[in-house]
Amino acid sequence: YPTLDLAQIRADFPILDQLVNGRPLVYFDNAATTQKPRAVLDALAHYYEHDNANIHRGIHALAERATSAFEASRKAVQSFLNAREAEEIIFTYGTTDAINLVAKTYGRTFLGKGDEILISTMEHHSNIVPWQMLCEERGCVLKVIPINDEGELLLDEYEKLLTERTKIVSVVHVSNALGTINPVKYLIDKAHAVGAVVLIDGAQATTHIEIDVQALDCDFYVFSAHKLFGPTGMGVLYGKRALLETMPPWRGGGEMIKEVTFEKTTYNDIPYKFEAGTPNIADVIAVRNALEYVNTLGKDTIAAHEHELLTYATDALQTIDGLRIIGQAKEKVSVISFVLDGIHHEDTGVILDQQGIAVRTGHHCCQPLMRRLGIAGTTRASFSVYNTTDEIDRLVKGLQRVKTMMA
Ligand code: PMP
Repeated sequence: YPTLDLAQIRADFPILDQLVNGRPLVYFDNAATTQKPRAVLDALAHYYEHDNANIHRGIHALAERATSAFEASRKAVQSFLNAREAEEIIFTYGTTDAINLVAKTYGRTFLGKGDEILISTMEHHSNIVPWQMLCEERGCVLKVIPINDEGELLLDEYEKLLTERTKIVSVVHVSNALGTINPVKYLIDKAHAVGAVVLIDGAQATTHIEIDVQALDCDFYVFSAHKLFGPTGMGVLYGKRALLETMPPWRGGGEMIKEVTFEKTTYNDIPYKFEAGTPNIADVIAVRNALEYVNTLGKDTIAAHEHELLTYATDALQTIDGLRIIGQAKEKVSVISFVLDGIHHEDTGVILDQQGIAVRTGHHCCQPLMRRLGIAGTTRASFSVYNTTDEIDRLVKGLQRVKTMMA
């Protein structure tokens, strides 16, 4: 793969050029959210400076420009996921919102008492709680695929859990807490064999892995733009047309209707049926620039750089006495969770912050996973395309300082 011009890439992200507590910022919290390149910031400003108007309903020039930019983003997402049709792309407020949409529409319509929903031990709370709410409402049963100590799914156990009662399998593509890449194609094929539909939570996968929803044959795929160099409050639900058409709308309001009378309302076609109200127009428009940014660098090139950082950091961190890496899956992305013997992760996070190093600490919205691993939380460093090995050296030095201060 071509090597990246890191100085140029870092210059694309203006936020990186700052001092935090007197030291150059090291941003290692990319699994929580990535930074935004200039192209995305410019697109947001451009929209508000030139095109701001509500979409779809207006016939004036600004409304037409805003609408066509908005729909161009839908096409860009379609091609990013290799979806068959642009109408299969629903804009949501994020991954959480997209999973809730599926639970509240598909789930409420097609699941009943005793039906089973299968998730995994490493799910983010947003892929647990909506299903628990559905179970409470409809009397369904939530079942959980176990993992091994390295943080990998136990596939034998998965197959045992699949029965004709399994109606939905909802699993994370890449774990935000451990970095594990799950064998989603395999999971999907096995689930389809028992007639279940499959939702893949791609929140952490989209920057690292090429996604082809047709090749995967998943029924739903969801992600958030903000983890992909795009704005917050914007996400995507991909769904197969045949499924989306059978699902009732969730939120009611403008845009999702064909005709409203006080007696009866008819609903719009997909995707608009699921897009009630004025959306995050600017943020949706700017997603296209984020996707272009990724496509221009090339996902393989990004992944190769991130893999180099992962290997470098794994080796470097293991030289620190008393540091234990949590999650050592054979297939993983550039996320390293670790614990330091006798030192609380919050202390680690605070002392690293004093040195200008941003990491995340805690349970990473995966409390059941932490319980399974027998820990209260971890310190997590997650690397993106703009990070460097020099920054990893800073982290290692920073952790030595944590140890000295806490000794
Ligand atoms: N799933 C995973 C794997 C995640 O990492 C996240 C974000 N941390 C979410 C779901 C929820 O995404 P959002 O907060 O953008 O809705």
